[in-house]
Order: sequence, then structure tokens, then C-alpha cells
Amino acid sequence: MRFRILFLILAIGSLSFGQETCPELLKGAQTRLRQDIGTLAADELKGREPGTRGIMMAAEYILEEFKKLNLVPFMDDDYKQKFTIPVQVQFGKGNTLSVGGDEYQLYSDFYPTKYSANETVEGETVFVGYGIVAPEKDYDDYKKLSSKKLKDKVFVMDISAPDGIHPHSEYLKYHDLGERILLAKKKGAKAIVLINNEGSANDVSPKFTSIHSKGIPVIFISNKDLAKSIGKKKKVALSTQLTPKTVDAYNLIGFLNNKAQQTIVIGAHYDHLGMGTEGSLAATNEPQIHNGADDNASGVAGMLELARNIASGDSTWKAYNYVFAAFSGEEKGLLGSAYFTDNVPNISHMFKYMLNLDMVGRLEDNLLAVSGIGTSDAWELVSEKFSCGDLRIKGSSSGVGPSDHTNFYYKDIPALHFFTGTHMDYHKPTDDVDKINFEGEEMVIRYILGLIQASIPVKEFMFTPTVEESRTAPSFNVTLGVMPDYMYEGEGMRIDGVTQGRTADNAGLIAGDIVTQLGDVKVVDMMSYMKALGQYKKGDESTIEYTRDGEKMSAQVKF
Ligand SMILES: [Zn+2]
Repeated sequence: MRFRILFLILAIGSLSFGQETCPELLKGAQTRLRQDIGTLAADELKGREPGTRGIMMAAEYILEEFKKLNLVPFMDDDYKQKFTIPVQVQFGKGNTLSVGGDEYQLYSDFYPTKYSANETVEGETVFVGYGIVAPEKDYDDYKKLSSKKLKDKVFVMDISAPDGIHPHSEYLKYHDLGERILLAKKKGAKAIVLINNEGSANDVSPKFTSIHSKGIPVIFISNKDLAKSIGKKKKVALSTQLTPKTVDAYNLIGFLNNKAQQTIVIGAHYDHLGMGTEGSLAATNEPQIHNGADDNASGVAGMLELARNIASGDSTWKAYNYVFAAFSGEEKGLLGSAYFTDNVPNISHMFKYMLNLDMVGRLEDNLLAVSGIGTSDAWELVSEKFSCGDLRIKGSSSGVGPSDHTNFYYKDIPALHFFTGTHMDYHKPTDDVDKINFEGEEMVIRYILGLIQASIPVKEFMFTPTVEESRTAPSFNVTLGVMPDYMYEGEGMRIDGVTQGRTADNAGLIAGDIVTQLGDVKVVDMMSYMKALGQYKKGDESTIEYTRDGEKMSAQVKF
């Protein structure tokens, strides 16, 4: 037998021989997890939206658990760390529009945009096309409009562009509406009326949490008939009234002080989408309770269960001090963990590393995704020291991702995110307790405990910056209306779920199909899939190739 093969067997032999198994949890773990997730994802908590009674009930429950474990406040003399969250800007009764003497309705006919000042204006409209001036392309929407014709007028501007709105537009650098509005103001506009008659662009959203006023009123016409006529020299009177709104939110921070040299952070966000007014993927806009059992009652339960085991008195865990953090405002943009990490003095020297649990309740095929492996060389080393039954790890390097670990990474703290994968209930009212895999979650928590145990002998976790896949992600304007399987390890993009009535569904694709080509772009992974989507804009048609149970198939798709 050739030496190399012999060497390999020996190496494997010795590795498996040296490996620990991950620690058992205290008896009754799954019962406690059911209690935690059942409580946090209950209907009466109404989806734990920041600023609501429901999230305060969740906070009370978590703090009760902290106190049972004798955790103490971390920094101030309060577990609760208060911060404010900007929520949807409110449109008051002062938003009015009349055209040619006819009154129009807020929302159904028009609404102010995030670019708008609060003002009342009367004037005549003038249509300025897209409001774009592209000298290098010898293109100027104002060419035929003298400054006299423009002065003190209400400019009507189409939000599209000469060749449509898509990533390959030759006018891409002129697409920004804020820039176009500032140019129009310079040209004499006293108000702007935005319309979307061409349709390659998405309508301007009436939902925004921060105002970027350009100093004049800027409204969008949602009434398609009015949008067609308002640019034809109409007398308009309009007024805008936008009121920013913030709500108070609370990070919940408990500290287990073992008077140890090093401290680690174990975190999970406890907020969710409430009734789904913002961020929901539900098919209807109807307000519905988004229970968030997996996102992220499962993570909070995991953090609490880790605290219970670590605070159990077992000397193993006395090697560290522990910060147990329940963050709020994660769904609004990682706001709670940003506030926490911005307000811990000298933070990069305070914490050895951070572990983030966000969606750990839907383990499938024993496959757990762990991202952030590249944030310290120590992670690889540590994770080889133990195994956890049949649990398989899908590691990824980047420290940047769609959850709270990112803010610790930005503070040069090695950080991992544990994730059991997306599913068709993600950000929908159907993300309920009865779909949680409690046995799987117990295994995930044991794995994390094993990681903590194996990390103790490693004196220092050197921080290493990672290559941010997210920065290079291609942009795209259209999708197939599918939920990709982020855990799929084969070639292509495996479909985890199909949204009814959307492009893929209309073409007959189903969950389990593996997309291998879109148009002339070969799809080998998520990146190439997003790149392929980037070729298209609304209304485009193309060919999609995919395999179903190994059989090659193709279909026509219309975006
Ligand atoms: Zn989440």
C-alpha cells in the first residue's frame, strides 16, 4: 500500500481518536426550548415589533429568565439598554393635491416621497421627461425647455430613464432620483411631481423611515390615469406634511461574571416583524401576526439554554465571563447590536469572540450553516477538536451577513453566525412553533457548547478580516419568485420553494428543481444565479434550463 494512503489512514485514525464529543445539555432541554419558543412566538405577543406591547412582554419573559440565572446587568445598573428606532414616516392630514380644481386622495392618488420638504405650493406643471442631462451622450431632457418656461413651475418627471431602469442601462449613473431632483431645483422647480408611466422602474415607495429632504415638495402619483395627464400644463395646488417617528427599543444584556480573564458574547435578536407592515414576504399586505418562531424565538431560546447550562455551576464554564445579549431592532437593520457595539468602550479588547444565533430552529438533514469562520484562524482549529453526532457543518468565511454578528465583526471581534437555513415560512405569518425541530435545536446548542469548551485552551483569537462576498454581489431588478436553498452544496441553484403566480411558477418550475442555466449564463452557485438575473428587466423573456430528479429540462420564462 503506497505510503501516502497509509499516512492518510493513520492521520484520520489519530484525528477521530483525539476528538471530543459535544457536551450533553442539562436534562429537559427540549421542554425548556418549547417553553421559550412557545412563549415568545405566541399570538398575544403579536410578532414582537419594536415599540409594541408584544415586544415588551417578550422582554419581561427574557429578563425573568436572566434573573433566575442570577445574571447581573452588564454596563449600567439596568439589564435594559434603551435606544430609539426610526419607524415609518407618518403622512399627516396636511398632504393635499388638487389638479385643475379637482381634489385627489392621499395614498390612492398620490403620496409624498422621502425626498420631500414640508411645504404648500401652487403652480403650473411642465413635463421634463426623466429630468436627465447626460452631456457625454448628448442627451438633455431640458434642451427644448427655456429657463423662462421652467422658472417657478411644478416639474413633472418620469422616474424611468431613456433605456429603462436595469443594471445595464447606459444612463445608470443618472438613475438616482435625489440627484435628478436637485438638478430640477436648480432649473427652477418649486415642486416635483414624480410619475411612472413607462413601468420598467418600481413605483416610489410610500414606506420609508428617514426623510432625505431636497428642500422642495416632492410627491409621487400612484393614480395611473392622473399620471398620464398631469404633465400637460395643469394648474396644481399641493401641500406636503411628513412627520418622522421613532419608537423606544431595548437591548437586554445579562452578565455572568466569573471573574475570568476573558469574556465572550452570546447573542440573539428577539424582535420580529409584528403584523408584517414592513419586511414581510407574505403574499398579501393584510396585517397578520408574524410569530417569528424560527426568526428568532429559536435563537433567543438557544441563547437562554446556553446560559442555563453555562450558569449551572459546572467548573468547565468558569474559564470565561459571559455576556448574554437579546438585541432589538435587528429586522430594522441590525440597529440594536449597532447601538450596543457603538457604546461599549474599547470593545475590541473587551470580548474574545461573539456567537450569534439567528434562526436555529429548522435543522434539516443535520446540516448547520456557520458563517464567519474566516474572522479568526482559531475557529478552524477549535471546530476540529470535537464532533457532534451526525451534525454536518456548512462553513462560510465572511464576517458580514444579514444578522447581528456583523456589527461585532466591524469592531474587529471574531464572530460566528449559526443558522439552520431559510424556508418557505421565512418572514411570513406561517413561521410558527409547530414547524420547529426541537431535537435539531438541542443538537445545535450542544454544538455551540462544544465550540465554547474547545476554545478555552486557545489563549487568543486573533481577528482576521474576511473578503466580503456581500460587497461583490451583483444587483438585479427581477427575480424568479423562488426561495433558493442556501444550504445546497451541489452545482446550480436548487429551488427550496416557489411563490405562486410568479415567474418560475408560471414556467412550471417546482421546489427541488436545480437551475443550471438562465439565458446564456451558466448557473453554478448563488453568485452566478444573481449575475444571470442581472441581465433582465421587467417584461423580458428568456430560456431557463434546469434538472428535475436528474433529468434535464428547459422552459420559457417571462419576468
Ligand atoms: Zn432574524
